[in-house]
Amino acid sequence: MIGIAKQIVRTLTEAGHKAYFAGGCVRDMLMDREPKDFDIATSALPEQIEKLFSQTYAVGKAFGVMHVVEEGHTFEIATFRSDSGYSDGRRPDAVIFTHAEDDAQRRDFTINGLFYDPLADEILDFIGGRDDLSNKLIRFIGDPHQRILEDHLRIIRAIRFKNTLGFGYHPDTYAALKKHAPLADKVSWERVRDELNKIIMARRAEVAFEDMQDTGVLPYVLPELEACKGVAQPPEYHHEGDVWTHLMQALTSLPEDATLNQHWAVILHDIGKPETFKIAERIRFDRHSEVSAELGEKILRRLCFSRKDIDEITWAVRHHFMMTELLNMEIGKQRQWFLDPRFPTLMQLFYADAMGTTPSSLHLYNQVKAAQEDCLRRFPELPKPLLTGEDVMKNLGLKAGPRVGEILQEAFVKQLGHELQTREEALEWLSTVTHST
Ligand code: ATP
Ligand code: MG
Repeated sequence: MIGIAKQIVRTLTEAGHKAYFAGGCVRDMLMDREPKDFDIATSALPEQIEKLFSQTYAVGKAFGVMHVVEEGHTFEIATFRSDSGYSDGRRPDAVIFTHAEDDAQRRDFTINGLFYDPLADEILDFIGGRDDLSNKLIRFIGDPHQRILEDHLRIIRAIRFKNTLGFGYHPDTYAALKKHAPLADKVSWERVRDELNKIIMARRAEVAFEDMQDTGVLPYVLPELEACKGVAQPPEYHHEGDVWTHLMQALTSLPEDATLNQHWAVILHDIGKPETFKIAERIRFDRHSEVSAELGEKILRRLCFSRKDIDEITWAVRHHFMMTELLNMEIGKQRQWFLDPRFPTLMQLFYADAMGTTPSSLHLYNQVKAAQEDCLRRFPELPKPLLTGEDVMKNLGLKAGPRVGEILQEAFVKQLGHELQTREEALEWLSTVTHST
């Protein structure tokens, strides 16, 4: 991919423009990490970019942001710009197309403000980013207070980069985060979600959550998680400590190939414990799985997750306490559980829950795993779906298309989860489905 990106820079340069790799990819290259994508910053204007490449898409033409597709890869090419006037705390009121140095100044952190000229093999550092990279420092470009007031998401981004990269905060950065933490409340939930997703998929997620708590950001981002701090668990079963510690220990025990939904299932699996805490013969959290699933659904809806993801995550949360029940089921019923497309998420949650507990035991988990393997060896087939595409189209008056597939998938998941057991029930459910998502 780097070869194609370099070719794009060459094309722009040969047409008389300045063009460099910019931002995250330069940071990653200097850290010997594989960049996820190569963004290019250039003096060329959108109309000029359009003329130089055959496949271009204007994603934010007013901001000078274009996508160029070359050899099947999409690259973001953005005209050097300077932003001015952030009256909504999110995006600039106006942009001015300018030169590279100004473009560096508008970026968030020094380590994200570097350019690289791949033709000359040269770094362009207008903001002291190289020094901060070698000192592993997160430092705002310019005045941290003003930069946070311009775009409040930068509070969460600072915490994200510090922890995903394993860096530290510059003292001025830290002070500004603490001072402005309540502004995190005004960030749109979609943007919060995207940052949270990156945080929880990286190592050190537990330190990132500590940081959010310590700076005072967490009550505005995930108050339900904050509420788990300091809530005791029965010491006879949980030597690790409070609910928060258990959740963090479970989160860090997930294997590297765990999916995003599996991570969320782990974070949310005991989120209902503070609400259900009671003292009987010992500390108990009766019905905490259901309460966690309900609260989890509320959280995921707020964060604008898709219906399908919410269903998978909350299904696993709701059933995370049933390993013994599963082992005692008759095999026909067991099989339906094991074949459920959401089951791998539940399995991962069983694992993380056990590992997140001290002393931890994988005894039950291994039994479930063995039962699953045995069952799938004996009955590898999925049942026949109760509904057909024809049913969906006829009953809802829909034309063939992705929405039909989505509805069929949803029905099949419900069928495997025993919510729909007969064709009549499935048709009945179908009549309650709306056309759009
Ligand atoms: P990642 O590896 O997570 O993609 P990245 O540095 O590429 O990290 P992006 O969110 O993709 O981060 O943004 C690309 C670049 O755009 C950043 O490196 C930074 O220079 C700039 N940038 C992105 N978001 C902001 C923001 N909210 N404020 C200022 N600059 C930003
Ligand atoms: Mg990026």
